[in-house]
Amino acid sequence: MSKAEAGIARWRIELVGTVQGVGFRPFVHRLASELSLSGWARNARSGLQIELEGHRVSLELFVNRLATELPRHAEIAQLEQWEIARIGDSEFRIVTSSLEERGAGSAEIVPDLATCPGCLQEIFDESDRRYLYPFTNCVNCGPRFSIILETPYDRERTTMKPFEMCPLCREEFESPQNRRFHAQPNACPTCGPQLSWTDRFGSELASMGDAIESASKSIEEGNIVAVKGIGGFHLLADAGNKRAIQLLRDRKGRKAKPLAIMLPSIEAARDYVSVSTEEAELLASPMAPIVILNRQAECPLPETLAPGNPTLGVMLPYSPVHHILIRRLGFPLIATSGNLGEEPICIGNEEALSRLGNIADGFLMHDRRIARPLDDSVARVAAGREMVLRRSRGYAPKGISVAGARSSTLAIGGDLKNTIAVAQNETVWLSQHIGDLSSLESRETFEKQLVSFPELMGIEPKAIACDRHPGYHSRNGAKVHPLPQIELQHHFCHAAACLAENGVNYKEKALAVIWDGTGFGDDKTIWGGEFLLCHNNQYERIAWLKPFLLPGGEKGVRDPRFAALGCLHEAGIDLEDTCLDSRFSAEERAIGKTMIKQGLNTILCSSAGRLFDAVSALCGLQMRNDFEGQAAMALEFAARKEPADSACGIELDDTSGAIDWTPILRQVIEDLDNGSEAAKRAPSRFHLSLAKLIADVAGSSECNIVALTGGCFQNILLLESTIERLRKIGKEPIWHRIVPPNDGGLAFGQAVIASRGETIQS
Ligand code: ZN
Ligand code: ZN
Ligand code: FE
Repeated sequence: MSKAEAGIARWRIELVGTVQGVGFRPFVHRLASELSLSGWARNARSGLQIELEGHRVSLELFVNRLATELPRHAEIAQLEQWEIARIGDSEFRIVTSSLEERGAGSAEIVPDLATCPGCLQEIFDESDRRYLYPFTNCVNCGPRFSIILETPYDRERTTMKPFEMCPLCREEFESPQNRRFHAQPNACPTCGPQLSWTDRFGSELASMGDAIESASKSIEEGNIVAVKGIGGFHLLADAGNKRAIQLLRDRKGRKAKPLAIMLPSIEAARDYVSVSTEEAELLASPMAPIVILNRQAECPLPETLAPGNPTLGVMLPYSPVHHILIRRLGFPLIATSGNLGEEPICIGNEEALSRLGNIADGFLMHDRRIARPLDDSVARVAAGREMVLRRSRGYAPKGISVAGARSSTLAIGGDLKNTIAVAQNETVWLSQHIGDLSSLESRETFEKQLVSFPELMGIEPKAIACDRHPGYHSRNGAKVHPLPQIELQHHFCHAAACLAENGVNYKEKALAVIWDGTGFGDDKTIWGGEFLLCHNNQYERIAWLKPFLLPGGEKGVRDPRFAALGCLHEAGIDLEDTCLDSRFSAEERAIGKTMIKQGLNTILCSSAGRLFDAVSALCGLQMRNDFEGQAAMALEFAARKEPADSACGIELDDTSGAIDWTPILRQVIEDLDNGSEAAKRAPSRFHLSLAKLIADVAGSSECNIVALTGGCFQNILLLESTIERLRKIGKEPIWHRIVPPNDGGLAFGQAVIASRGETIQS
């Protein structure tokens, strides 16, 4: 060996993490070339494999720079390197992906990314060959999870396979200096997907630019247009047109639930909603979620977009077709999921025509298949930071590290806001939002995802984690995989989700406050106002809201007046002594009272959600839940409008875990009777009293960490006032960020607990 050769070596480097679909191979190519290293890089199922030959100093520099100069959306979870025999190749190349299996698990699949500034500039540059081309993308942006059929992530294993790249696109794809070097969905007007405009029977009336023009005209005329986007169809309409809003609500069967809107830019958004720095960041992020924002006082948009609601769900255009449409139209658009009720979002062209044919007046479609349904994600800024309420496009299926989550597990979530999850190698991957499993369509999607999601993630589950509720449809999903079932308590899963997301060591004791609508309790009653002491993957129910009777079963969930009947009964207050009495017909009053007296068709529950419903009805705010959480939201909005300055305190009983909340209810009634000023502040005082109640329970516990989770903590006022109270007494409150506090986060918690594989008992 000559002296010059002594410093030369060949290294094999293997990377696991978010290393595919984010411009990683181009980055490695550039780095290797700069450092005069030869060898190759390729995608594999497990991640990225690299071989490098050159000076040891350069090799070391390479590894250092790999970690510090990562592409924007990339993340290295694991890096292994070792020395191998030299080959003496002359250059660095990107080679064909390896399909061999190596161990378990696969490379992280990247979520779909909103159009980047570079691509946006090209789309609106008349001299560019991609001028107004709606499928423009590059390594920094574009579809990912929505087009992947299998790993490793290469064009032939995506729904871009049928599109053969033209010579110009091919050249970009192969040039290391180009922004589209190995951008798998690369396309242009010559070779890529095409748009078409059809009537509701599927007859094509226009294509490409003319299609957008026709769709725009139709929206201008007040029609509803179905537009195929990244993860499914949207229904678009003029957000300023009251008639269009009503038409959409009638046809979609969506009475009162807020409709999301799309606004051209953050600057434009400020005319309609207030936008803080954190909110602006979230709106403009590559995840591009719907962000819940406060309406401006002088917001010119119709109230019927979100009746009785001081907020609006706002998103910015995130794919070229949205950018082109909204720039052409120049006004705010309703952009709601293309579905009926709580069914999954439509993704196929034929499917959309048949399912949305009675809703949309025209269809703007394209010929790129969508691999799986991905709704828009919904997020808001809570206590100064992002909190995801619906986790889907842009967020899913990014893995979340969870200490101890070792055994390969599939978690199947609950029946409402269903998501599923898989765990392995100390990571949990939470699926996109699937929906409420009450419809046949949702259950079909659910069952398909149960097979395809673990497969795509390269995970062979050894066990299935599910909710203990015997009546959940999702439980049938376990039949898809004949594996051992681990049944878990609903609220413990919410707790585990919140603690794990915040990286709390599960060997340490933590208190979790889990307040939601409904969850099956260990004593077979309905729980929902829980305080669980969590330790070593186990829990102890140390306190709970004192149970009350909910008359009417399911009806009691939809009708807050019935929840109020149950709460009043528990508090020993006569309905006739409250103003709610006039809201009942004689017949309803009689039925409700009989149910309670005889215990007929009633359930015993400790649900905080139902307590919010009851108070909302008592305050005369909301007598029906047309969608989940409607009455509680009305109460929160009323409370935010008229802030109170004092809370009602209650005595905690050390001998029993059941917390008697009835003094708080009595205070509400008293406030309502005490003239209009006190009455207006009753909703706010109720919130503050509950925050105080939580802090009092936490104060009597030895735990420092207090997790706030469950659907009730989507309520910003409850969340923020509880955080404030807890901090005042020296506790460390934690809450959700990228895992939803509602049942959309349940599967994550199930996966966390089951994959830690220790005995789970109450
Ligand atoms: Zn781009
Ligand atoms: Zn092309
Ligand atoms: Fe729940």
